[in-house]
Amino acid sequence: MATLVSPPVRKLPTIHQTQCFIGGQWLPSQSGKTFETIDPSTEQVIAQVAEGDAADVDLAAKAARKAFEEGPWSKMDARDRGRLMYKLADLIEEEKEELAALESLDNGKPVRDSLAADLPLTIDCLRYYAGFADKIHGQTIPIRGNYLCYTRKEPVGVVGQIIPWNFPMLMTAWKWGPALAAGCTIVMKPAEQTPLTCLRMARLAQKAGIPDGVINVVPGYGPTAGAAVVKHPGIDKVAFTGETSTAQTIMRESVASLKRLTFELGGKSPNIIFADSDLDAAAAGAHFGLYFNQGQCCCAGSRVFVEDKVYDKFIDKVASMNTSRRLGDPLDPTTEQGPQVDKTQMEKILHYIDLGKQQGAQMVSGGKRFGEKGYYVEPTLFADVNDDMSIAKDEIFGPVMSVLRFSDMDDLLKRANNTMFGLAAAVWTRDIGRAHTFAKALRAGTVWVNCYDVFDAAAPFGGFKMSGIGRELGEEGLKAYTENKTITVAMS
Ligand code: NAD
Repeated sequence: MATLVSPPVRKLPTIHQTQCFIGGQWLPSQSGKTFETIDPSTEQVIAQVAEGDAADVDLAAKAARKAFEEGPWSKMDARDRGRLMYKLADLIEEEKEELAALESLDNGKPVRDSLAADLPLTIDCLRYYAGFADKIHGQTIPIRGNYLCYTRKEPVGVVGQIIPWNFPMLMTAWKWGPALAAGCTIVMKPAEQTPLTCLRMARLAQKAGIPDGVINVVPGYGPTAGAAVVKHPGIDKVAFTGETSTAQTIMRESVASLKRLTFELGGKSPNIIFADSDLDAAAAGAHFGLYFNQGQCCCAGSRVFVEDKVYDKFIDKVASMNTSRRLGDPLDPTTEQGPQVDKTQMEKILHYIDLGKQQGAQMVSGGKRFGEKGYYVEPTLFADVNDDMSIAKDEIFGPVMSVLRFSDMDDLLKRANNTMFGLAAAVWTRDIGRAHTFAKALRAGTVWVNCYDVFDAAAPFGGFKMSGIGRELGEEGLKAYTENKTITVAMS
C-alpha cells in the first residue's frame, strides 16, 4: 500500500487573473459566463474563470492581427523581441515558488515536481527561444542565370494555440517560445481544467513589456472556444497538443481556411528492459517514466517489455517502490504523487484497471482509488500483460504500469512497434550495438537509451504515426512558425 502524507497547513497561492486577456486588457467573457476550476486534491472550487467562446476568440484574433500587422511587434528588431522574452523568463523565475504552487493547486501535481521540472523547463524554453529571435534567417541560392535569389523566413502570422492540462505552464512555454521568437502573435486557449498559470504568465508577459495584442489568452471549453480558434478565418495556424481524436476533429474543421497545423498527441510508448541492463537503474527509470506526473504524460512508458530472465526481479523492484510512494496534498513538499486532474480522468483510469483484471492480467500492486476525497488513484502495477489486452493497447493516462514479458528478440521489435502511436520509446541495455539497433528501428519521435523523460528545450520532440505532425522544441520547432519566401532579383 502506498502511504498517505499527513495533511500539512496549506499555504495557498494568490489568484490574480481569472479573466480573458485580450489586446492587453483583462476582460470578462462577452457572454458574461464563467466556469469553475477545481482543486483536484480537495474537489473544492478554486476560482470562477471567464468562459470565453467564439465572440472572445474573435476579439482576440483581431487584437493579434492588429499587433502583427500594425506593430509594434512586426516592426520591432528581432533582437529586441528576444530581449523581452528573456525578461519574461526572468519574471517567471522571480515568482517561481508562487507559480509552482499555483500549478500544483490547479493541476494536482506535487509541488516538488512543479519546482524541479515544470518551472525550470518553462524558463529554459523561453530563454532558449529568446536566443533564437535574431538568428532566424534564410539563404542565398545560386540559381541559373543572372539573378540574385534569396529566401526569407517570415512569421506565419496569427497563431492559435490549444493546450492540455497535464503541463499547463510548460505547454504554454513550448507554444509561446517559438511563436514569439519567429515574430508571430498569439491566441491561446488553455485547458479548461487548468487555466490559472497560463493567465498568470500572460500577466508577466505584459509586465515584461511584450506589447498589447501579441499574446491573447481566452480560457474556455474545447468545443466552443477551442473550435472557434480552429475555424477563425483570421488565424493562420493552429498548434494543438491533446488527444488524437481531438486532432482529427481539428483537421476536419480547419479545412475551409486551410490552416497550417501542428499536432502533439498521445502515445503508448514501449520501454524495453534487457537482462544485461543495470536493473536498479532500469527499474527506477521505468518507474519514473510511468508514474511521474500521476502517469499523465503523453510519452509515459506505459508498455514495459522486460526480458524473461530478469522479469520477476523487475516486478519486485517496481512493486516495492510503489509501496513506499507518498500520496497526498500536492502542496506538501514531501508528496510524491498527487491526484489525477479531474473526476473524469480518475474514472477512466479505474475503468482500465477493471479491464486489466477482467482480461487476466496479474495485479501486483494498487488497483483502486486512494482515499475518498480527491481524485487519487493508487500506483498500480500489472504483470503478465499480453499485447492484446486493453491496458497494453490504449493510452490510459494514469498511474498504471503494464509489464509484458519477452525472450524472443526478433519478435520484440515487431511487438514494440505494433501500435498506432509513435511518440517515444526507451531501451535499457549495456550492449551498445543493440542500443543503437533499437534506437534506429523503433518507430518513435524520441528514443531514450538508459534513461527516460530527458527533456531539453534544444532537443526536438514530437510523434511518428498518430502521435502527431511536426516537432516542437529545438531549431526544428521554429519551422512551424515561419513561412519561407523566395525572392529572385534580375541583376541586369
Ligand atoms: P483534449 O484533446 O481533450 O484537450 C486538449 C485541448 O483541446 C483542451 O484545451 C481542450 O479544451 C481542447 N479541445 C477539446 N476539444 C476541442 C475541439 N473540438 N476543438 C478545439 N479544441 C478542443 O486532451 P486532454 O484530455 O486535455 O489531454 C490529454 C491528451 O493530450 C492525451 O492524449 C495526451 O497524450 C496528449 N498530450 C500530448 C502531448 C504531446 O506533446 N504529444 C503533451 C501533453 C498531452
